Amino acid sequence: ATLPYDPGNIFAKILRGEIPCKRVYEDEWALAFHDIAPQAPVHVLVIPKGEYVAWDDFSARASAEEIAGFVRAVGHVARELGLVEPGYRLLANLGGDGGQEVPHLHVHLFGGRPLGRMIS
Ligand code: 5GP
Repeated sequence: ATLPYDPGNIFAKILRGEIPCKRVYEDEWALAFHDIAPQAPVHVLVIPKGEYVAWDDFSARASAEEIAGFVRAVGHVARELGLVEPGYRLLANLGGDGGQEVPHLHVHLFGGRPLGRMIS
């Protein structure tokens, strides 16, 4: 089950500008910034601006506009970073078994080296 949204989570603070981030891209729907502990030469997090804990509430409650805006932002960031031709990986950790640590939906974008079969 998806927890209620906690406005005190670290990505909410980043969205409100209370904590700095290395911003890569921002629009009406999404914010992208470098992960603080990169696992690849490119490791960017893309988050929707709306208050969604994980895929469950995002997919159930977000408007078609929000969903489209978020998906388009992920694609835009990958293009802007030059990752389309070499390739990249998208990953979302969701919930406890998924290993999610920050309870604001985020997609990890990895690239810049051959990534092998999987980042666990
Ligand atoms: P999760 O395990 O929830 O999918 O991933 C959370 C990610 O957020 C981790 O890769 C972690 O390094 C990153 N992270 C945690 N706190 C911060 C922060 O304050 N700033 C940034 N830029 N990344 C963070």
